[in-house]
Amino acid sequence: MSLKERDKKHLWHPLKQHQTHPESLAIVKAKGCTLTDEDGNEYIDAISSWYTCIFGHCNDYIVNKVSQQMRQLDQIMFSDFTHEPAVKLSEELIKILPQNQNRIFFNDNGSTAVEAGIKMALQYYYNRGQKRSIFIAFKNGFHGDTFGAMSVSGLSVYNGPFEEFLIDVKRIPVPDGNNHEFILNQLKEYSSNLDIAGFIYEPLVQGAAGMKIHNTEGLNEILKFCKSNHILTIADEVMTGFGKTGQYFASDYIETKPDIICLSKALTAGLLPMAITSCTEDIYDAFLSNEMAKGFFHCHTYSANPIACSASLAVIELLTSEETQQNINRISESHQQFSERIKTHPKVKSTRHIGVIFALDLDIEVPRYGDLRDKLLKFFMSNGVFLRPLGNTIYIQPPYIISDQQLNKVYAIIENSLEIL
Ligand SMILES: *Cc1c(COP(=O)(O)O)cnc(C)c1O
Repeated sequence: MSLKERDKKHLWHPLKQHQTHPESLAIVKAKGCTLTDEDGNEYIDAISSWYTCIFGHCNDYIVNKVSQQMRQLDQIMFSDFTHEPAVKLSEELIKILPQNQNRIFFNDNGSTAVEAGIKMALQYYYNRGQKRSIFIAFKNGFHGDTFGAMSVSGLSVYNGPFEEFLIDVKRIPVPDGNNHEFILNQLKEYSSNLDIAGFIYEPLVQGAAGMKIHNTEGLNEILKFCKSNHILTIADEVMTGFGKTGQYFASDYIETKPDIICLSKALTAGLLPMAITSCTEDIYDAFLSNEMAKGFFHCHTYSANPIACSASLAVIELLTSEETQQNINRISESHQQFSERIKTHPKVKSTRHIGVIFALDLDIEVPRYGDLRDKLLKFFMSNGVFLRPLGNTIYIQPPYIISDQQLNKVYAIIENSLEIL
């Protein structure tokens, strides 16, 4: 029996209505930018398997580092113990993170990185005897699927059954260059009437919303307002981190730096699940006390797993290399040219790009899940390209090692797909 058939017996997949979509594609191999399915068909992974494998699949350099670590120290609890990969990773990350970051806290996925960030902000005020319990977040943001992360996410169409259990969140629109005053007025109203603990945001690019890019100065104004009104700022760089936008972190483009940063996805380049919540020394200091209860009681069994840390150390080595920076620039320039070519197409409403991220909006309505979306997906896959449209947005976020030839194939298939609409 095929994997596809065996899968149906016991498995339950995420983000799936099994009754209408019973099938899953069985992948048996991945190398570089190429995925191979059980029938031997190959696909270019044009979205880095959900923004993770920035150096391609089964990258030899990372795999070697990880297998060395596996033979040395596999797992040890991170409460009361420490180890070289975690210590070294904290040192290396602090070198590339925005300068105000000084503490590294480990989690195991993007949602729990956000969860820890939210809890840090709440307890920061609690420890100081202040009650602040409300958060501000952008409309249409996405921050993950655990309760805290779900609460601050604005893409809430699928949160229905849980809404009454979520924490209180006030929403503001993303800055578009023209709504400056409107946003600041809203912020003033919230901060003078409510006890706001923090503001959480995806810096510059909202991933799940369809790679929507917002205004740098506008975001900086919001962050400045938060700083001067004691609202802690949490940058969710789970998608944007590690070079995607052309800088190490999207926060590098913005003058005002966040108090807390959430990292995952490309942190281990797709090899192992891990996440980090970094923060300033000021946040950390608020948890220092002779009272045990003022410490941060948030832990995951696999926090700072040594093998995952070793993958991440290899990622930072590769990320900071001249070759990677050249690759990111090459992809970015290539996107620019594709954008010029495609943006006048009658079925294209608009295009945008930053770093290795490219997106185009179709000039037609495509429901987030539905027949048209399925038709597009099928077209891409049957032409050997793995792309996953989000509503009427088609986006690319390739591994940095993608060849020009592969990238041109991705562009060509997108162009051809416009003809089937
Ligand atoms: C993917 C993502 C998350 C959630 O990460 P998981 O590892 O899937 O829990 C949170 N925030 C952003 C911006 C993301 O892209």
